[in-house]
Amino acid sequence: MEEPEIRHEETTNRWVIIASCRMKRPREGKSPLSQCPFCPGNEHMTPPAWLVYSRVGSKLVKLADGENEKVRNWLVRCFPNMFPALKSDLPFEEKFDEGFFTTTSYSGFGYHEVIVESPDHNAHPHNNSVKDLELVVEAYFDVMTKLSYEKNVKYVCLFRNYKLEAGASISHPHSQVIALPIVPPIVRREVRAAQKYNRDRGGCMYCDMIEFEVGSPRLVYADEYYVVIAPWASILPYEFWIIPRRHEPSFINTHPKERKALSRVLKTTLLALRKVLNDPPYNLGFHVAPLQWKGESYHWHIEVYPRTAKLGGFELTTNAYINTTPPEKVADDLRKIVEKLRV
Ligand SMILES: [Zn+2]
Ligand SMILES: [Zn+2]
Ligand SMILES: [Zn+2]
Repeated sequence: MEEPEIRHEETTNRWVIIASCRMKRPREGKSPLSQCPFCPGNEHMTPPAWLVYSRVGSKLVKLADGENEKVRNWLVRCFPNMFPALKSDLPFEEKFDEGFFTTTSYSGFGYHEVIVESPDHNAHPHNNSVKDLELVVEAYFDVMTKLSYEKNVKYVCLFRNYKLEAGASISHPHSQVIALPIVPPIVRREVRAAQKYNRDRGGCMYCDMIEFEVGSPRLVYADEYYVVIAPWASILPYEFWIIPRRHEPSFINTHPKERKALSRVLKTTLLALRKVLNDPPYNLGFHVAPLQWKGESYHWHIEVYPRTAKLGGFELTTNAYINTTPPEKVADDLRKIVEKLRV
């Protein structure tokens, strides 16, 4: 089976993308690739970029590669993943006719894009400048906005894997965006919980949580636009969430000022994480309101998962977690460093 397929498992209510083409992707493993496909000069190693940030004088310009002519002197570039988990040229179809297990499966329709965050092979958020990170956050915004308006897309998932242990097969700073024809289970659960809270108690669960947590021992960072907390029931050691103060269901409706402020928060918190845990691998992901849903009571945020602990049998077989590090200690450790940093 070459083409990807989205399968739903009825007994567990799990969704899985079966994507054998992802097996062919190059991996750096212990030794780096001889050529980094994301470094300047190697643009021919990737598909043409449909969004390229560059500068003319001091002015930021948004361009696109031609089929044979790639934009040079780029700052950020976005192109389709060479080894996509989902493909936009597949027909969008719900499959009903393949027997018991595939009654609610889909073809592998979707989008899988790569955002290369910098021409610098080492400019990860912890050592990138806040100014250059603003471009990365702006590219997140542009790419998520574009994919949100594509036909049959129900959810746009943006995530960042840092280091091989967190799933990054190439070490050059990059993020990925997968646009799905389904709403993923965690987001579905969070939206339903927010809707229920709104019905039962009024207001927004996240807005109220921020108000409470700002005065709690789980507070990591707070500024005019964002609050960062180690969540009450963190599943992994040093997990933290970045939550905007202004109630807004989706990142694609944020204001320019909020996006600028986010680059500072990302740099500060990820640098603090690096200092506390000696440069750990991590995954970072956005949670936003699903498209075509009434998600007014939802509140977008970012979740960061350091990958220092391996998931074991208990976690995989129960979907519940044993976390050895209390979030109150995590917040204390991170806060001490954040207070010194204030980049
Ligand atoms: Zn590189
Ligand atoms: Zn809210
Ligand atoms: Zn969430």
